Amino acid sequence: MKGKLVVVSGPSGSGKSTVTKLVKDRLNIPLSISATTRKPRNGEIDGKDYYFLTKEEFQKKIKNDEFYEFANVHGNYYGTLKKTVEENLEKGLNVILEIDVQGALIVKEKKKDAVLVFFKTENLEVLENRLRNRKTDSEEVIELRLKNAKKELEYEKKYDYVIVNKNIEESCNELINIINL
Ligand code: 5GP
Repeated sequence: MKGKLVVVSGPSGSGKSTVTKLVKDRLNIPLSISATTRKPRNGEIDGKDYYFLTKEEFQKKIKNDEFYEFANVHGNYYGTLKKTVEENLEKGLNVILEIDVQGALIVKEKKKDAVLVFFKTENLEVLENRLRNRKTDSEEVIELRLKNAKKELEYEKKYDYVIVNKNIEESCNELINIINL
């Protein structure tokens, strides 16, 4: 039996990372670490949160066909390594990728039975408050992420499931139910 490939997307601040981390812990799903050219935020560790690469290193991996998918998000490259996905699925383990909408559609194109889950907040005001309250990004970055959120929300209809994240515990249960279907 091969594992299931689940893709989680949604605007920055939708709470998708918090929920995905909890669900991975609860279901013992291995972490899938993406590569990015974004600079590490305070406290982020290379090889744990992301593989932080230079643009040149990232482009070399593109050339060597090492990515399952990659995209330019908020001005930086982000990508899932083939190794991460294929090895775990072969072993029968489920894989959850937390990636942007462009990457999600590439995955669906490659693997029709991938399950796409979209996270959102009740409205944009809640999203803006969350982005501001986490105090990890500059005003410029917050503005860019809000602008992108409006575009990302248009992709919702291409997803198999939508989770409106009002409550972390409820959203975890919803995601677990989807994975276990
Ligand atoms: P952040 O900079 O907040 O960590 O992530 C920004 C965006 O990049 C989020 O929407 C996140 O889901 C997305 N992202 C993270 N890793 C990947 C990846 O490997 N591929 C793609 N396409 N998007 C990713």
